[in-house]
Amino acid sequence: MQDPSVLALAPCGASEQAIPLSVPQARRTRQGVVAWGSHRVTVGGDAPVRVQSMTNTDTADAVATAIQVKELALAGSELVRITVNNEAAAQAVPYIREQLDRMGVNVPLIGDFHYNGHKLLSEYPACAQTLSKYRINPGNVGRGDKGERQFAQMVEIAARLHKPIRIGVNWGSLDQDLLARLMDQNAQRSQPWEARQVMYEALISSALESAQRAQELGLHADDIVLSCKVSGVQDLIAVYQELARRCDYTLHLGLTEAGMGTKGAVASTAALSILLQQGIGDTIRVSLTPQPGESRTQEVVVAQEILQALGLRSFVPSVTACPGCGRTTSSSFQELTQQIDGYLRAAMPVWRQRYPGVENLKVAVMGCIVNGPGESKHADIGISLPGTGEAPAAPVYIDGHKVLTLRGTEIAHEFQQIVENYVEKRFGATP
Ligand code: SF4
Repeated sequence: MQDPSVLALAPCGASEQAIPLSVPQARRTRQGVVAWGSHRVTVGGDAPVRVQSMTNTDTADAVATAIQVKELALAGSELVRITVNNEAAAQAVPYIREQLDRMGVNVPLIGDFHYNGHKLLSEYPACAQTLSKYRINPGNVGRGDKGERQFAQMVEIAARLHKPIRIGVNWGSLDQDLLARLMDQNAQRSQPWEARQVMYEALISSALESAQRAQELGLHADDIVLSCKVSGVQDLIAVYQELARRCDYTLHLGLTEAGMGTKGAVASTAALSILLQQGIGDTIRVSLTPQPGESRTQEVVVAQEILQALGLRSFVPSVTACPGCGRTTSSSFQELTQQIDGYLRAAMPVWRQRYPGVENLKVAVMGCIVNGPGESKHADIGISLPGTGEAPAAPVYIDGHKVLTLRGTEIAHEFQQIVENYVEKRFGATP
């Protein structure tokens, strides 16, 4: 008898059955709108997965905050959250909005409230009116009856002003009364759950109970977004899979406190990709801690890259580049890849308006003849640079055909020009 631990292998050779395509699953949630003026950003339902970000300036500094919001919006953030933590911040919100409107930046602003949101939204009506959405953390609205009243106060303002809210639960600020109740219940079980499982239940129950309460207070279910953020990849996957199973509210997805640099980007990508592939997540944020001197916009770039890599959305032309190896001993190959990548990204704010569809452009920059011509032919435009020992010539391929060969020291500049001409010809307005 065959050892059952050994997988039965299919016979070698080609199969008669087509290999199934891998595509993200579809999961339909409710659809809401986050709007500023006539600019409407749909979230959930059949809307594309939206990219969000958050400022790290002092909101009371209206100029610095407006500048950073503009940077994030230009980088592609479709919704920007700002903290509204005190009276000075609440007072600054209308001025931030005014500055943005003057600069032609119509991105909706989301106010992030903790502890005193009920007070700030009540006492600063211009702030409440100017924000396009409120984020409420049910773990930070107060405890017991007082918490109930303060939560109700915020939701009633949102309902009156027709503002959507996000009920944003975070395991670092979980509703302690709810957690205590669930711990007690768990202790009664004949087979108690693990502490982590109780925590999962507390996160989800907090979000769902708060959402239900918000609906009872007059908010439409379409205007409620939920999130349950944790900082562990497997925890996030477990929580969101269950949350998605239990409701059809729009879900905001993010790994909280993901960390810095590569670690933060990789952890966020790992968690978000698995959930997005399952159709879970209507808006995303990548919570990166910026490295010293690094732009805040990096979190937008990573969020876009995740969605683009999964084939869910296109934001910038993609550059396929080989990793390089012993056949590419000079740095010119890396330099050209970096230049083209930077050039395409920098051109996008203008190209997005001028050349509709340009975000789907595929460019290949390859290091030698081994895979260079093949990969270049698969791209819209590709260049295969000479590897070590190869003739100093770089064939250029357009739409799968070799069209010319570049030589000399100006290859990078000339290739950039070719890309620009191609973009103008293919995506420019027809005369
Ligand atoms: S294409 Fe050439 S240079 Fe690039 S990794 Fe492959 S063999 Fe190395």
